[in-house]
Amino acid sequence: MTVETITHDIIVLGAGLAGLRAAVEIKRKYGDKLDVGIISKVHLMRSHSVSAEGGTSAVLYPEEGDSLALHAWDTIKGSDFLADQDAVWMFVKLMPEEILLLDHWGMPWSRREDGRIAQRPFGGHSYPRATMSTDKVGHNEMRTLYNKLLQYDKWERYDEWFVTNFVVENGIYKG
Ligand SMILES: Cc1cc2nc3c(=O)[nH]c(=O)nc-3n(C[C@H](O)[C@H](O)[C@H](O)COP(=O)(O)OP(=O)(O)OC[C@H]3O[C@@H](n4cnc5c(N)ncnc54)[C@H](O)[C@@H]3O)c2cc1C
Repeated sequence: MTVETITHDIIVLGAGLAGLRAAVEIKRKYGDKLDVGIISKVHLMRSHSVSAEGGTSAVLYPEEGDSLALHAWDTIKGSDFLADQDAVWMFVKLMPEEILLLDHWGMPWSRREDGRIAQRPFGGHSYPRATMSTDKVGHNEMRTLYNKLLQYDKWERYDEWFVTNFVVENGIYKG
């Protein structure tokens, strides 16, 4: 029996929002220097991420009363105080920039009358900071990230490939 071996510099396991965003970042930072394999057990646009409807939270308008501290508090409280607070703080600080990056990459955010990005209330948040795209936020974020990825070379999709195991030898990931 012949066993085919496929090699990449980096494997991204999962092609939802987390996986696609990671793949885009690798390509932005390293371009053609690293080639990437993206594995998903489902077709690209069938990851759960496409289902998100409500919105993506970020502090966009601190001058109107929102704050990073309030966003962090809502998130930690929403986790029953089980969340890693350093990780929460890192995400909360990153999110305003992420929303604007997605905007620059073509994300069709819903808008206020004056053209600025709109936000609305969402479960667990004490301030209306859910940045939405009507009721298709996850679907449109996935499309935006995938369109961004298409600008780069040297990456490959493995749709409907099911990962069953990792091979680790002496603490080193082998495949
Ligand atoms: C109906 C619904 C509505 C939601 N609404 C919101 C909302 O409004 N706002 C919000 O912030 N969040 C919302 N969420 C939650 C949010 O969508 C998820 O937390 C987020 O999308 C998770 O992204 P992810 O990339 O980590 O995971 P996923 O999108 O689930 O991606 C996981 C990836 O891993 C792959 N994978 C897993 N196991 C294997 C394996 N063994 N082999 C190969 N591939 C594998 C899958 O194929 C997939 O590509 C909602 C979730 C749902 C289901």
